[in-house]
Amino acid sequence: MSWVAQLARADIVSLQAYEYASWEPDLTRMHANELPWRAPKDESVFGLNRYPEPQPKDLVERLAQLYGAAPHSVLAARGSDEAIDLLVRAFCRAGQDSVLVCPPTFAMYTLAAAIQGARVVSVPLRAMQGFALDADAVLQMCTPEVKIVFLCSPNNPTGNLLSEEAIVRITQALTTRALVVVDEAYVEFAACQSLARYLPQLPNLAVLRTLSKAHGLAGVRCGTLIADPDVITLLKKIIHPYAIPQLTLEAVLKLLEPGQLATVRKTTALVRFERERVTKELARLPFVKRVWPSKANFILAEFADAAQALFRAHEAQLLVRDVRGYLGLASALRITIGTLEENERLLEAWA
Ligand code: PMP
Repeated sequence: MSWVAQLARADIVSLQAYEYASWEPDLTRMHANELPWRAPKDESVFGLNRYPEPQPKDLVERLAQLYGAAPHSVLAARGSDEAIDLLVRAFCRAGQDSVLVCPPTFAMYTLAAAIQGARVVSVPLRAMQGFALDADAVLQMCTPEVKIVFLCSPNNPTGNLLSEEAIVRITQALTTRALVVVDEAYVEFAACQSLARYLPQLPNLAVLRTLSKAHGLAGVRCGTLIADPDVITLLKKIIHPYAIPQLTLEAVLKLLEPGQLATVRKTTALVRFERERVTKELARLPFVKRVWPSKANFILAEFADAAQALFRAHEAQLLVRDVRGYLGLASALRITIGTLEENERLLEAWA
C-alpha cells in the first residue's frame, strides 16, 4: 500500500468514484442527458450544452507545462481554494485528524478544516524574526493526528517568503507521516523558484499554484495542485466530475499562450516596482507605524489608528483589507498593489 493510501482517510481510499459519462469527443453524445442544441448566443468552442471534459487533458497539460511539472502530478481545480478543500477532505477524518497552520496566514486552511470537522494545530510564525517559520516548533507539534501541514510562501497577509531550507527540513522529517502543502499563490511576485522542483525527492510535498494573482485571471477560477501522482489520483475521486467549467477551460487555453506570458512577466515586474515604491512611501507617513517588507503583490502595514486609516481610504473610494483579526496583527491593514494612479490616491488619502 502506498504512503498516500496509509495517510489518507481509509473510506476515501476505498471509495468508488462517480462514473462520469465517458469522454469520446469524436462520437455523438447520447449518454449524458444533455440537450443536443446550443443555447442562443453560445459562442464557446465546444458548446455549453455539453458537460466539460473531466480534468481536461489540454488544460492539465498546459498547467503542467506552465509550472514545470509532469501532467500526472497535476490536478486542475476551481481555484486553489478548491484544492485546499479537497486535500483536507481526503486526508482528515472529522473529529480525529488535524491540519497544522502557521498564523498569521491565509484563513482558508482553517476554514476548510472547520468545514470538514478536522482540528487545527497552530504554530505561529515568529513575528520578531520577520514572520519566520519555526521549523522546530512545527515538528514538535506534529502529532500522528496531523495529516497536513499548510505553509504559505510568500505568506498572506505578511508578504514574506518562508525559508526554503526550513520547509525542506520539515518535509523530510515528516516523510509519509504528513503531507506538507506549500501554497505558492504569490510566488511569481517573489521572483524565486517554485518548491515543486523538490517533488521527485520529497513525495510528501505538495505545491499549490493559481492563475488568480500574477496571471490576472481571478475570475476564471483555476488553481493547480502539484503533488505525488497517488495524491492526485486520490483527489480525482472526490473532485466533482465536471468541476472545471467549459468557459474556464477555453479562457485558460486562450489566455496562457506564450505571447500572454510575456505580458504576465511585464505586469509582474511593474507590480514589484510599485510594491517597493509604495513600501518606501508608506514608511514615510507619520500615520504608519511599521511597513513589513513584501515579496507578494500586497503590503502589510501597521497603523497608529487603523480604523482611521480604513475610514480615510474608504472616503477616497478605496478598499484595503482589514487584517486586525489575524494573530498578532491588531493594528494592521493589507494593501494590494494597484495601478500607479490607485497607489497614489491611497498614499494621498493617508498623507
Ligand atoms: N492561497 C492564498 C495564499 C491566497 O491568498 C488565495 C487568495 N486570496 C488563495 C490561495 C486562493 O486563490 P484561488 O483564487 O486560486 O482560489
